[in-house]
Order: sequence, then structure tokens, then C-alpha cells
Amino acid sequence: MASPRLLLLGPPASGKGTQARRIAERCGVRHIASGDILRDAAAAPTAEGRRIAQYVERGDLVPDEFLVPLVCDVLVEAASTQGYLLDGFPRSVSQAVQLSLITDSASAGVQKVLYLDVAESELLARMLQRSAVEHRVDDTEPIMRHRLQVFADETLPLVDYYDARGLLHRIDGHGELDAVTERIFTALDR
Ligand code: ADP
Repeated sequence: MASPRLLLLGPPASGKGTQARRIAERCGVRHIASGDILRDAAAAPTAEGRRIAQYVERGDLVPDEFLVPLVCDVLVEAASTQGYLLDGFPRSVSQAVQLSLITDSASAGVQKVLYLDVAESELLARMLQRSAVEHRVDDTEPIMRHRLQVFADETLPLVDYYDARGLLHRIDGHGELDAVTERIFTALDR
């Protein structure tokens, strides 16, 4: 696929960030991680930075009016050059609709969606492990449970949304990181 345009979907602690970096490296595409973009924006000493930080710390979705302008330009630019891998955006049907509005006119739309499927019990166990190492402000247990709920309510509907458009590839996200990477690469070669 020349300049592939990919989307990786997955719940918190599904291994999405690690797999995203591996996919981007293998395919030579730009890795666009909304969480990283927002953590940078939240660190700015401005009123907007402080607003964004409040949402991220609570584990709530940052409103579209902050996020969409931050990803839009980089995404359209990457689509016309090396291609992209979206990681963490879109995270709701509303964002997916906005993404298609931004990209369809530029022939920059997503071609393949990879969904990392991991059982909820496994996710919570992994998040607790990770919080012991990384100390992220949004990795405390109540916030993690909240983020899983936000995922179920807001993001999971995207699985059906992209399945209905014939773009969805479901990947079993259990097991070793390397085994999951293999499954993803197999799906990409299909
Ligand atoms: P993880 O990969 O652990 O799920 P991320 O780094 O992708 O976490 O996201 C961290 C936080 O950043 C989210 O809990 C949310 O507050 C905010 N965020 C990231 N992407 C989006 C998005 N597309 N829309 C709204 N908020 C977002």
C-alpha cells in the first residue's frame, strides 16, 4: 500500500501505543498520537492548556473544538506525503464524522482500521501494573475505571461504524506484545 492511511483503535492499556510505534516504523508512516499531542498542549501555560489538562487528568474526552484543530493539519499533510497511523483519534463517532469531513475532500481518508480487542478484566490488571511504573496522573484506579467506561460508551461504537464501512480488522490483543505485532502485520499484508 503506497502511503498507507491507518487507524489503530483499542481501549486504554490494550498495548495500542507500543503497537502504533511498531506499525509506523514498519510502514514508514507518520505516527499521530492524540494523547501525546494533548499532553503537550496541556503543558502550555495558557488558559487553553489548563482547560485541556483538566479533562486529561479526569480521564474525560477533551472537547472536539480543542483537539480537532490540533490534529487536522498534521494529518492532511501526512496523507499527502508518507501516510499516517492515527492512534487515539478518532475516539467517538462525532470525531469520526469530523475526520471523514476533513479527509474526504483531500482524498486523505482512512483505508484500514485495526481494532485491538482485549478483555476488560485484563485491561484493568495491566493498567494497575503500568501505574506502578509510569506514575501518570490519569493512571489511578478510579480514573482508570472511568477511562474504561468512557471507552465503552464513546469509542466502542466506532468498531461498528468502521465495520459497516468495510474497513475493520479485528486483532486479538491478548498474549505477548510480539505475538500481537505479528497478528497486526498479517492483517496489514492482507
Ligand atoms: P491511552 O493510550 O492510555 O488510552 P491516550 O494517551 O491515548 O491514552 O489518551 C490520554 C487522554 O487524552 C484521554 O484519557 C483523554 O483525556 C485525552 N484524549 C486523547 N485522545 C483524545 C481524543 N481523540 N478525544 C478526546 N480526548 C482525547
